[in-house]
Amino acid sequence: MSQIDAFKSQLTPVASLIPRIDKKRHVAQPCYTRRVVTIAGIKTVKTRFLPVSHEGQGIETYVDKLELLERNRAEFISRKLKGIERRAHMSLFRELVEQKGQGWQDYFKVKFDKDCTIPDGLCIACWNCSLFGGLEAGKGATFSRARYFDTYSVEDIGDCVAMEGSEEGMGIGNQVYEDVNKSRGSETYHLYEYVKAGTRFPFITIIESPTLLDVAGYIHAVRRADEHGYGKYSANHGKFDTEFLAVATGYPRFSVLDMLKWAEAGTLKGFFDNRAVKFDDLNGSIALFGKEIEEISGRLQDAFDEYYEALNR
Ligand SMILES: [Zn+2]
Repeated sequence: MSQIDAFKSQLTPVASLIPRIDKKRHVAQPCYTRRVVTIAGIKTVKTRFLPVSHEGQGIETYVDKLELLERNRAEFISRKLKGIERRAHMSLFRELVEQKGQGWQDYFKVKFDKDCTIPDGLCIACWNCSLFGGLEAGKGATFSRARYFDTYSVEDIGDCVAMEGSEEGMGIGNQVYEDVNKSRGSETYHLYEYVKAGTRFPFITIIESPTLLDVAGYIHAVRRADEHGYGKYSANHGKFDTEFLAVATGYPRFSVLDMLKWAEAGTLKGFFDNRAVKFDDLNGSIALFGKEIEEISGRLQDAFDEYYEALNR
């Protein structure tokens, strides 16, 4: 059996994503296996990036930072990763539905009872809600099967953040309400710190009870999210390049902190390229690297076709 087939044989059938009927409405199935898939990789910033999860002061915005492993690092919290990737996953899903020749709104209403809007109007039935979880006030909830971890810049903020006192200084933007007829003053602009292009963030995401559609869909969603942008002012900022280093069944025997240490030591790529990283799976972990990851992400359409067919049965 090829490595790809061995990997696929350990996944949950795509049909498990079909919602069941509970009190005349559709709800994602709670039938969960104990299996997991781990996806590890490294995200490289390719534009200015503003990871911001707190209020700034006055007209200034500061990048999230913390001291960790003897460096001051920019912090990219998991909630922000998940939020953008969930939206990208939904847009991918809707496009796949439309490719079948029908408007997604009508299709969602028939199959999942409503449009499913993130974050306040979730249907808790669709493929997206099944993977990322959802809560419908007073009616029910599904748990998130996607597990995210906070991540941190490999580089020290002295090298990777443009801020007051750094060579670049802070970024300057216009206030939304700027009156262009008036001369520029502190009321008409704002200052922001940003993480510079080239900064690296290792990441690990775990998907529980994973189907092929979850895994291939997640990889595609991350690529969409990279172009959409993460963080503040993401229309123009926060674009990334993501390199997937491993997609494996089982839990990782390493953490984001290990990946930071390896990246600093220059051994990160080597560990993955040489298949030296380990995963724990009671059934024996099957790990995919390099081209194999490309191949599994290429199975998206097949997996979606299977899901679509099962939904229409
Ligand atoms: Zn939904």
